[in-house]
Formats: sequence, C-alpha cells, structure tokens
Amino acid sequence: MAGKNEARRGALVDRLEFFREIGADFVFKPEKKARKSATAAVDLALIRDQVLACRKCRLAAGRTQAVPGEGNPAAELMFVGEGPGRDEDLQGRPFVGRAGQLLTKIIGAMKLDRSEVFIANMVKCRPPENRVPQRDEIDLCMPFLTAQIAAIRPKVIVTLGKVSTDFFVPHAFGGMTSIRGRFYDWNGIPVMPTFHPSYLVRNEGNVEIKRMVWDDMKQVLARLGRI
Ligand code: URA
Repeated sequence: MAGKNEARRGALVDRLEFFREIGADFVFKPEKKARKSATAAVDLALIRDQVLACRKCRLAAGRTQAVPGEGNPAAELMFVGEGPGRDEDLQGRPFVGRAGQLLTKIIGAMKLDRSEVFIANMVKCRPPENRVPQRDEIDLCMPFLTAQIAAIRPKVIVTLGKVSTDFFVPHAFGGMTSIRGRFYDWNGIPVMPTFHPSYLVRNEGNVEIKRMVWDDMKQVLARLGRI
C-alpha cells in the first residue's frame, strides 16, 4: 500500500511539474470514465501536500498558511476565487472571512452545503495587502488548481470575479457585468462567471448586483438538474 501511494505521489509530482513546464493553459482532456471519489480524495490529499510545501513564488514568503482549497472530492460544483485574504491565510481555509460568509450564504440559498461543493482559489497563498495576484504567481500556482479540477471533474465551475474569470474565459470581452450570466466552455466543463462576493460586500445596498448573482446561480442549479 505504502509503495502504491509512493508511486502515485511520484506520478502526481511529475504531472504537476510537467503542467508547470508547458504553462498553465495546458490542454485538458476530460477522462472517459468518471473517477471514483476515493481516488479523487487521494489525489486531492497529494495536491494539498504539494501546496503546503510549495515555495515556488514570492507569495510563500509572506504567508502564515497556504490555502489549498477544500470540499467534496466528488463535488459537481466548484467555486474558484482569486486568492486567500487575511482570514484565510490565518486559518488555512478558503473563503472564511466576510466575503466567505457571503459565499457560504449563497451556497446555502442554492440548497447546498459547503461540504457538498469544492472551493478553491487561483493562488494558494495570500498576496501582500490583498493585492491582485501577478501573472507569474498565477502561472506557477495554476497546476495545483488544474490538478484539483482533473481530480474532481466538476460538472460546473463558477468563477468568482475577474481574476479567475480571465483564466477560464480568456476571450471574453468587457467587465463582469457583460461577461457574467452565461456559460462558457473550458476544456469540456461549463463555466459560469459571476461577481466576486467581496464586490457584493463592498456594494451591500446594490440589489441589482445581488439579483444578477442569484440569476447566475439559478442557471448553475438548472445545469446541475437541481431546479
Ligand atoms: N477572496 C478570495 O478570492 N478567496 C478567498 O479565499 C477569500 C477571499
């Protein structure tokens, strides 16, 4: 068993290294057969170990804890944010601050629980002063996210805000208001871009933005066959 796990770890490290070498936008081939969630859980645990040990970019120097992401290995729905903020950096968990509490509420409004979905970020370490992650930081971190997606094979990805949307929908033109509200394809996975929860927090009284987010989530639920 130990030997098998060791071999699996080695294969995963090689794969991450390869993804990194060829760049973040590697061609993502969906697997033919649905992977068992037990296998996904093993892969996610290995990816987590890699993230916690990673010192490939300057963000590692400023972190308290890396934030690999969390959730269900068999999740049908995955949320991808930008990067950990202060609370996430302290707790080592994604979306646990104010924006995170709002995301948790949105997930609840969808009649889902955080434990049923998977929540991750573009970069796994907090950028200083919560600045936007830089291109090279994203490029170096992206293999972790793409490996997580490959392990989970979600039916839908929701990108939260412009940074993750720019990666998954690179050809979309304009701001979030014009990009959101419809599905895009990313290597066979439908992607729904929507506003980042922290934008909603900053615009608390703006009912229009809330309605748009809810409309996006309803489309996601319909795609998942839940409404
Ligand atoms: N904002 C993000 O993009 N991700 C988090 O985990 C928290 C806040």
